Amino acid sequence: MHLDFLGSLTRTHMCGDLRPVQAGEDVVLMGWVNRRRDHGNLIFLDLRDRSGITQIVLDRELSGPAHTKAEAARPEFVVAVQGKVRRRSPGLENPNMPTGSIEVLATDLLLLNDARTPPFSPAEDAIVNEEVRLKYRYLDLRRSEMQQNFALRSRVAMAIRNFLVGEGFLEIETPFMTRSTPEGARDYLVPSRVHAGHFYALPQSPQIFKQILMISGFDRYFQIARCFRDEDLRADRQPEFTQIDLETTFPQQSTIFRIVEGFLTAAFATAGVTLSSPFVQMTYDEAIRRYGIDKPDMRLPALVDLSDTLTPDLRSTLKIEPDLPVLGFTIPRVGALSGTGRRALVDEIRAFFGATGLDFLDTTRLRTNPDFQPLAVAIAAKLTAEQIVFSGDPFTTEDLAVVITPKPGTPERWNHDPQWIPKRVGALRLELAKKFADKHKLFEKTGTHNDYKFLWVTDFPMYEWNQEHGTWDAAHHPFTSPHEDDITSGRLVSDKGAVRALAYDIVLNGTELGSGSIRIHRKDVQAEIFRSLGMTDEEAKARFGFFLDALEYGTPPHGGIALGLDRIVMILAGAHSLREVIAFPKTAKAIDLMVDAPTPVSDAQLRDLSLKPL
Ligand code: ASP
Repeated sequence: MHLDFLGSLTRTHMCGDLRPVQAGEDVVLMGWVNRRRDHGNLIFLDLRDRSGITQIVLDRELSGPAHTKAEAARPEFVVAVQGKVRRRSPGLENPNMPTGSIEVLATDLLLLNDARTPPFSPAEDAIVNEEVRLKYRYLDLRRSEMQQNFALRSRVAMAIRNFLVGEGFLEIETPFMTRSTPEGARDYLVPSRVHAGHFYALPQSPQIFKQILMISGFDRYFQIARCFRDEDLRADRQPEFTQIDLETTFPQQSTIFRIVEGFLTAAFATAGVTLSSPFVQMTYDEAIRRYGIDKPDMRLPALVDLSDTLTPDLRSTLKIEPDLPVLGFTIPRVGALSGTGRRALVDEIRAFFGATGLDFLDTTRLRTNPDFQPLAVAIAAKLTAEQIVFSGDPFTTEDLAVVITPKPGTPERWNHDPQWIPKRVGALRLELAKKFADKHKLFEKTGTHNDYKFLWVTDFPMYEWNQEHGTWDAAHHPFTSPHEDDITSGRLVSDKGAVRALAYDIVLNGTELGSGSIRIHRKDVQAEIFRSLGMTDEEAKARFGFFLDALEYGTPPHGGIALGLDRIVMILAGAHSLREVIAFPKTAKAIDLMVDAPTPVSDAQLRDLSLKPL
C-alpha cells in the first residue's frame, strides 16, 4: 500500500470542533478512520480524534484521487483530510453527534498509516473481554469512553493541584527507592546491584518523608503520589495506585477537613457536581452504634436501637436474650413481599447469621397477635422516626422492616469484639440494600449533590486487639497521635482498648476515600507508642531510627491525610472498576497484560544482583 508523507501539512481543527458557523471554511483534520461507508461514487469516512468525530465526504466526481485513496482506507488507518466544511442537507443531520450538522467535503486525502484489522473496534462502546482490552490497551484507550475518563482524571488532578497551591502547599517529590514504610502491607523490593544482598523498598506511602518535610519547615506539602503495596488483590485494588497526599504544620483536625473539602469541591466541580460542605462528622463509636460499620453509607437509613421496646417479660416470652441489644433497620421502597418471597428472605437472613445467636423477628406476624400488637406498634414508631430523619417519609408497608434479636445464650462479645452485634446487623443492612437496589433505587444517580454522601469519621480506636497473636496492634500507622488526654491520663498503658486516636477517615457512599491523622511530634510519645505496640527500643531504632533522630531536632505539631485519586475519578466517571481510570493497570493477579510483566529475567541479571537463579 502506498502511504503518504505528512510533508508540511498542519491540522487546523480537532475532529470534534466543527460546527455550522465554520461552513465554507477550508480545514485540515487528522485522525483515525472510525468507520467507512462506501456508496460507490461517494465514500463517507468518520474521522476520529480525542475530541470527537467528523464525517468526511469523498466524491469521485469532485476529487477523484482522494476518492481512490479512500477506497483503500480501512478502520484505524491514520489519515489527513483537506477540505471544506459544509452544512449537511436537511434530513441528513445526526442529532446524536456534536458535529452532526456539518460534514467536510474532502479535496485531498493523505493515507499517513495503515492498520491491521484490530481485535476489537475502538468504535464500539462495550467490549466484553477485559483481558483482550488490557492486552491491546492502546486500542482500548482510543475508545471515546476511555478518552473521557482520562480527560476527567487530568481535570480532577489539575483542580486539586490548583486548589492546594492556592492554599500555600508546595508540591514536593519523595523517593520511589527507599526503605520499608509502615503502612502494614507487604513491600515490593528492589535489589541493589552495588550493595549485594541489600534491597530498596518501594514506598507504600510517602508517610515518613512527608513528616520529615514538616520537620524541615516546608509548612505545607502535597504530592499526587504513587504508592506500592504488595497485597492479595481484590477487584478494587491495584498494586500501584495514586494518592493525593498532604501534610501541614500546626493543624487542628478542622484545618485538614477544610482543606480536603475545598479540593474535593474543586475536583467534583470539574465533573459538573456541586458539593455542599462542611461534610457531616461522626465519631467512630457513633458510626458503629448507628451504622454498624466505620464507613457508613448514608444513602440508607441508620440502624435503630429497639432494645427499650422489649420489656423483660416480652423478651422472655419471645425468647430473646435479656441484656443484649435488639436492633432494627428499614430498607425503603422494597415493595410488599409475597409470602414465599418473605419466607425466602427470612431463610436468607438466618443463613447470613448462621450460628451466631442472632435471629430475625417477624414483626408482620407480631402485628396479627393481640398480645404483641403494642410491641409491633412501638417498633414501627421507632423505625418511622428514623425514616423521617432520613428522608422525611414515614415507614409504610412498601418499606422492608428488619428486626434482629439475640437469642438466649448469644455471647456478649464475639471474637472479643464488644461491637459485634451492630457490626453484624450493619453488614446485613448493606447486604439487603444491595439485594434490593433495583427496587429502592437509592444508589442511582439523580444528578444532584445528594448522590454524594460525604462523611468524616473521627476518633478511631488507637489499637486493635490481635486475637491470633494476643497483642494490641496499631489500628493505623504507628505515627498517629493518641488524644492528648489519653496520653496524660495514662490510659495508653493501663487501658489500650479505650485509647482514641486523632485519626480520621473520609467516607463517600460507604467507601473509604482516604484517611489521615494528627501525628506524634514528640520523641518520648513516639517511643512510648512503639513500646506499647510491643516493639523494643532496639527494634524501633533499627526500623525507624533516622526518624526518631529527626524528631529530636525541633519537630512541630503536624498532621495530614491521603486520599485515593483513582477511586475518586472512578466514582466521578461512574466507572465500575479502577482499571477504567488507570491508563495501564494490572489485572487482579497483578499482571500487566500489555507489556507482559512480571517476567523472568536472565541468570546473568540475577547474578549481577547477587540473587540466585531459581
Ligand atoms: N500514609 C497514610 C496512608 O497512606 C495516610 C496518612 O496518614 O496521611 O493511608
